[in-house]
Amino acid sequence: MSSKSIEALARENVRQLTPYQSARRLGGKGDVWLNANEYPTAVPFELTQQTLNRYPECQPEAVITRYAAYAGLNKDQVLVNRGADEGIELVVRAFCEPGQDAIMICPPTYGMYSVSAETIGVECRKVPALANWQLDLPAMQAQLDGVKVVFVCSPNNPTGQVINPEDLKSLLEMTRDRAIVVADEAYIEFCPQATLTSWLKDYPHLVVLRTLSKAFALAGLRCGFTLANKPVIDLLLKVIAPYPLSTPVADIAAQALSEAGLTAMRGRVAEILRNRRELVSALQALPGVEQVYPSDTNYVLFKLSECSVVFKSLWDQGIILRDQSKQPGLGGCLRITIGTEAECQRVVAALYALSASITAE
Ligand SMILES: *Cc1c(COP(=O)(O)O)cnc(C)c1O
Repeated sequence: MSSKSIEALARENVRQLTPYQSARRLGGKGDVWLNANEYPTAVPFELTQQTLNRYPECQPEAVITRYAAYAGLNKDQVLVNRGADEGIELVVRAFCEPGQDAIMICPPTYGMYSVSAETIGVECRKVPALANWQLDLPAMQAQLDGVKVVFVCSPNNPTGQVINPEDLKSLLEMTRDRAIVVADEAYIEFCPQATLTSWLKDYPHLVVLRTLSKAFALAGLRCGFTLANKPVIDLLLKVIAPYPLSTPVADIAAQALSEAGLTAMRGRVAEILRNRRELVSALQALPGVEQVYPSDTNYVLFKLSECSVVFKSLWDQGIILRDQSKQPGLGGCLRITIGTEAECQRVVAALYALSASITAE
């Protein structure tokens, strides 16, 4: 069979699909990686479970118990999965009928919501955020017909700000008995007071996504959590793979969620917030930078003249940032993940050198 006829066998929506442009997929040759919102250094772990001849538990007890305690929820409100990305896919698969239902997103936002929906064959309805990147509630209300899941990222990737709680409340009222509202809290450890988990008692259709990939420094582990009331969790348990986490993943996740693991995580958050403050002031003082947007996360979005020249020049020097300028409303914007103090200083030094040479031309 030719590759052309193989292509013809594939589902129409898969043939049309543009895959998620992950930081890894975009490549680059660098020694300063500030493009994927990872924690900059590795935290060592040792495996304690050696029973790899046996299948793992579907929902490892120690991980569920510890995450429930950490999140202040009951164990039956917690599902552990292969990263928050699997949580996104499970919610779409469980609630949206392909070719019939839709999801709603508010760009600019995280790219995997639309990729998951399109892969499954579910329409992705886009309601652009307002100029200040808050929700356009009237427009959302007007386009809610047929929408089964609304994704809101708070704090939002890549813009960095928390979504107004009052607006989220209005959204939850507007969608009651109609649609699931997913609050993606991948970065909530950097602004823990903004979590919506305590709202689960009032809203049966609220789902909160979490991950160990960011503040927990475990992006390579692939472990995330879906928090919701039991009826939602029970539905997701029907569609999840029988063994979503390997034994080593569950082993390390349980250690990361121990008292010592949580204390270490909070220490990392404090360090990242310190580095963020320094980086933001340096960027604000940089000629050519038009705006540094306030961030509640481990990354900063900023707008600059000569955005693509700067991005490419840093890339060539081995400093890899994330170009957001193709996203709606983000022309001229780059996103920097907060790295170590030394990494932040290297980016700032490179940016100052560049701005001097651009001005000199
Ligand atoms: C990083 C990220 C995710 C994915 O998290 P994983 O647990 O690594 O799959 C989900 N949502 C947002 C907003 C993210 O930035």
